[in-house]
Amino acid sequence: MASPTNSGVLAGLRVRIDQASCTGDGLCVQRAPDVFEHDIDGLAYVKNADGELQTAPGARVPVPLPLVDAVIDAADECPGDCIYVERPDGTLEAGPGS
Ligand code: SF4
Repeated sequence: MASPTNSGVLAGLRVRIDQASCTGDGLCVQRAPDVFEHDIDGLAYVKNADGELQTAPGARVPVPLPLVDAVIDAADECPGDCIYVERPDGTLEAGPGS
């Protein structure tokens, strides 16, 4: 069951990037380098807990609790509007249309 963090944000969030809209500017990598990283194609991808880049289309990774605020900030500020932070039920916590 999800539990609140200190910031009041629910645990159990997952994040994905739609690379089709990524500009490659790197804002997300600056905000949360443990979650986002550029691949050789210049676009940003999410990383799992082992730091492995997830390059499959639509790949999602859990958002570590200490990084929830940074990941949500990245989604709010993403120039490409292509970072989706999803709650356990699949609804959007942050990102396009949230
Ligand atoms: S902030 Fe958005 S547009 Fe910029 S590199 Fe990250 S995912 Fe791509």
